[in-house]
Parts: sequence; C-alpha cells; structure tokens
Amino acid sequence: MTATTKDLQNIDNAHHLHPFTVHHELRETGPRVITRGEGVYLWDSEGNRIIDGMAGLWCVQLGYGEQELVDAAADALKTLSYYNTFFQTTTPHAARLAQLIAEKTPDGLDQIMFGSSGSESNDTAIKLIWYYWNLKGKPEKKTIISRERAYHGSTVAGASLSGLPFMQGIFDLPLPRFHHVGPTPHYYEYGNPGETEKEFALRCAKAVEDKILELGPENVAAFVGEPVMGAGGLMLPPEGYWQEIEKICKKYDVLLWSDEVICGFGRTGEWFGCQAYGYTPDIMTMAKGISSGYQPLSAVAINREMADAIVNADSEMAHGYTYSGHPVVCAVALRNIEMIEELGLVGARGEEISAYFQKKLAALDDHPLVGQTRGIGLLGGIELVKDKSTKERYQPEGEAGLICRRHCFENGVIMRAVGDTMFLCPPLVISKDEIDELFDLVRKSLDLSHKELSA
Ligand SMILES: *Cc1c(COP(=O)(O)O)cnc(C)c1O
Repeated sequence: MTATTKDLQNIDNAHHLHPFTVHHELRETGPRVITRGEGVYLWDSEGNRIIDGMAGLWCVQLGYGEQELVDAAADALKTLSYYNTFFQTTTPHAARLAQLIAEKTPDGLDQIMFGSSGSESNDTAIKLIWYYWNLKGKPEKKTIISRERAYHGSTVAGASLSGLPFMQGIFDLPLPRFHHVGPTPHYYEYGNPGETEKEFALRCAKAVEDKILELGPENVAAFVGEPVMGAGGLMLPPEGYWQEIEKICKKYDVLLWSDEVICGFGRTGEWFGCQAYGYTPDIMTMAKGISSGYQPLSAVAINREMADAIVNADSEMAHGYTYSGHPVVCAVALRNIEMIEELGLVGARGEEISAYFQKKLAALDDHPLVGQTRGIGLLGGIELVKDKSTKERYQPEGEAGLICRRHCFENGVIMRAVGDTMFLCPPLVISKDEIDELFDLVRKSLDLSHKELSA
C-alpha cells in the first residue's frame, strides 16, 4: 500500500518541524512531497515532473540518481559501513579524499579536517582560528568580522557569523566576538549614484579596514566571506573587491577565510570561488557540492602556517565529530570529485555550459519585470522590480518574489526567492537542451508574475 499525498502531508503536519519555515502556514497548506529524482529533474507525489533550477539546495552538482555515486556508496557500505578517525586511526577513503581535496585547493591550503555540514565546518574553522591565535601567544585576537547579509549556516556559531538579523534576534544571537560590516558588496543595490564599480569596491573594503581599526587589529582574528554571497541574495563581488580585502587582511595580520560552501566544486567554473576571483585565503570551508548532496559532508582546509602551529602544539586538539571522515561519505565524495573532473565540469564542458547558461540568463534583461540579471558559472540571480530605470520594487517587498516562486512551481521549475531576488543554481551536468527548457519555463513564470503584479 502506498501512502497518498494527503496521508503523507497529514503525517508530516503532525510530527515534522521544518527548517526556515512559518509552521502555521505550512500546516494549512501541507508540504509538497518530492518522491524521486533523475538527472536535473524531480518528481512529486502527484507525478508532476519538475526541472530543478536550484540543484537541491545549491549542492547536487552531478544531478540526481547518478549510478556511479550509488555504487560508490554501496561498495563502501559493504566493505566498512562505519569507522571513526579518532585515536590515531584513518580509513582509506578518508585519507584519499583529504589528498584529493588538497590537490584542488590553492597552494598551501593542504590540511583538511572533515565534518558533516557547512555549519559544522564553519564551527570547526572558528575553533581552529581561536586555537591558532592562542598557540601564537595572541589570545586577545578572537573577534571575527563577517558581512551584513552573509549566510554562513545556522548552528549557534553559523547564525552568529551570518549577517541576517531574522536568523539572530529570535535566538538572542549573535554571540559576542562576532561583528558584521556593511555596505554589503553588491553594486546594484548599494552603489551610490555616479560611483563606479571600482570605487564602490574600494569603499566596501575601506569599511572592513575601518571596522578592524575600530575593534583594534590586536583583537581581530579573521575576516570571513563567501566569494559570491549566496543565500543572502546572490550578490557578486564588485571588481577588485577581493584583492583589496586580501591586502587589508595581510596588513593587519587578520586571517582571510573563504566560505566556499556554495562556490566550491565547480559552481563558479573553477574548483573554488577564490580561484575564480583571484585571491588566496588562509582558511576555506566547503560542503554542499563536495558530495553532490548524496551524503552529508563538509571540510575545512587550513594553510601551512596554521597547520604548523596546530601540528607542533603540545596540547591535544580536542575537537572532532563522530562522523568526521565517515568512510561511506568520503567514498561518495571521492567519486563525486573525480567525476566532476572526468566530465570536464571544471574545464571545457563546464566553460561551454556556463557560457550558454549566462547568455540565456542575460537575455532575460529585456523582460519588463527584470531589473538586473547577474551571475557567474552556473549561478544566476534575477532581480524583480516595478520600474527598471529607478529600481523601484513592488510593495510590500518580497511579495513579487513569492508570486514568481509560486508560478515557477506551478509551471514545473524550481527557482528560489529571497526577497525579490530569484536564484538559479542548476546541476553542473545540465545540458544545453535542458537549459533551454529551464529558461523557457523561467520566462513563462516571469510573464505570469508580471501579469499578476500589473493587474
Ligand atoms: C549552506 C551554507 C552553509 C551551511 O551549510 P549547512 O550544510 O546547511 O550547514 C554555510 N555557508 C554557506 C556559504 C552556505 O551556503
């Protein structure tokens, strides 16, 4: 007996608390039930086929149902279903995965610690940073600076790092030692009239420097940023921004931490976003595409200087998780990363598909509802506005985004909305035909949204 959609919705409504959800609203409508995935497509419990423009939650690089990843998991499960990496022990898959990741990260960032989620790896990074400065005899260097509208996860530390007040106030966060700086480096929204993109980049970087000076460089441990800001609104750094940030961090002996959870593993066309934007961090955190979401995995990479301090310390690095370096999870990630390489998704095929995707995205600029499109690699953002020339939004803000998201679902395409920004982040294996289908459905949804909003 298979359960009907209604049965499943009732069970879910009775017992299941969902992430980032207004529950009384969900319980009125009932959740959508997704039952199957293949390639870039999902199916719901009513049999509708949906093209997934979001790769799950920015993570399914190889698409759904890839048999090689299924086999990698099955083989690993049969051989060694679990073992830990505590107590001077490793497993073949964990060791080989650390090596493979170290080959892809920028030179010098070759020491890897595993976890099970992006938030967890960010917690690990914070602890390694604090531990490092203690080992260096600078125990006062503890404050971490991030940016307004950043997303760095939702554990206590992840939410403290994030620059999104709606995630913080209800939990009495952020914790002390976490500071946020603005303006958010997003030229379309925060650039002043007459200010060039370059000038804007310098102003954003100057704000970081001012914040370091205000807090006292002797107190500032690290600066963290996503190469392209993701969940806060898909915002691309203005030209020259990261180079300036890199200089400022060096000048004040502040560690530069790149949160690569979305941008890693081919999303921007390179292995990592910092490579696409030409800067070298001291620390990187990664998750999502690292395993195409088939298994929960994250990793932190630190540079030699940090690693030397930790490796040569007398104290035990008393940190780690039961599932750090889980053999099944690592086996899947290994095959995933190998396949990203073998399929040329970082390389010739990736370049060709990204160029095609970006061309199609830019073609939406002429749509009456679209104020701006922007993107890199297989990331795209679409800004919905009432008036293209003044950038005026529909009121209340966020309504246009929700209307558009609903039309997308009804028309068989998943595009996410944050405020009035729509996101696209399809699997890296998407074909040109599938990109055509994706953008046909996106345009249709924009047309229907525009009609509804203009009525
Ligand atoms: C998703 C995300 C995280 C959190 O990852 P989880 O696996 O959900 O804990 C952290 N940083 C960035 C940039 C993300 O996009």
